[in-house]
Amino acid sequence: MRLQLPSPVTHVRFAGLEVVLKRDDLIDSDFSGNKARKFWYFLENDLPHIRHLVSHGSAQSNVMYSLSVLARMKGWHFTYYVDHIASWLKSHPHGNYAAAHANGMQIVEGPVPHHFDKETLFIAEGGRQKEASHGISMLAEELRAHFGDEKVDIFLPSGTGTTAFYLQQYLPWRVYTTACVGNSDYLRKQFRMLGGENARLPIILESTKKYHFGKLYPEFFKIWVELKDQTGVTFDLLYDPKGWITMLENRDLFSDRICYIHQGGLRGNESMHKRYQRKYG
Ligand SMILES: *Cc1c(COP(=O)(O)O)cnc(C)c1O
Repeated sequence: MRLQLPSPVTHVRFAGLEVVLKRDDLIDSDFSGNKARKFWYFLENDLPHIRHLVSHGSAQSNVMYSLSVLARMKGWHFTYYVDHIASWLKSHPHGNYAAAHANGMQIVEGPVPHHFDKETLFIAEGGRQKEASHGISMLAEELRAHFGDEKVDIFLPSGTGTTAFYLQQYLPWRVYTTACVGNSDYLRKQFRMLGGENARLPIILESTKKYHFGKLYPEFFKIWVELKDQTGVTFDLLYDPKGWITMLENRDLFSDRICYIHQGGLRGNESMHKRYQRKYG
């Protein structure tokens, strides 16, 4: 496998705003985006005692898919626990779910065990682990090498906040984000869990309207299509619409140069796109 690192940087203009894109979506067709950064440590290091990878979360998650790729590359078994798999998904496998199966994932509906043997590597939901700092520090290094002494504001949408948090630890510039999973309080809690009291935290911005994670909103689909048409770049349908809406609503806060981190997740668009089609035709 040949990973495209450092990931490319491109320039786009959207809604009158000049934005520099850090294209982590282009790292690789299978192992890409911020999940590649977050799981980089496990790819790079040998870990000869590990034979089994275990994680949990939703049945269409980007983490699940990326871990299935990691497990395949490492020759590990991969077991993934979910609360529930919709019967429609079982009978019509698609998106991350189908792709992770094709990589050999074993999916289990039921509770996550409390204990694992020494041969098992357990990854908490969303890939929220300190090893993520390793790959994210490499992303920060690439950004520093690209921008040098220029001042730049960084923007990226957050789930667990792991990427935004570590990026802020390794960058001299301000990192701005918005909470896509839960609200700003949830995200602040995540930051505190990752960093303790003295860490420098990303700035959390809010959109005028409240959005719930995984729900469908006509304005999300609209901005996703407009971004694709006007910039030629396909973004993800779960996090990026809230990211762009929030960034544009708060544009007065930013300096001349803003860099948006494209965190990949495009494999998950298949299931989101199907849901939008079924709901809005
Ligand atoms: C996983 C993911 C995120 C959220 O990353 P966190 O580190 O959990 O904040 C954002 N965007 C995309 C496309 C993702 O796949």
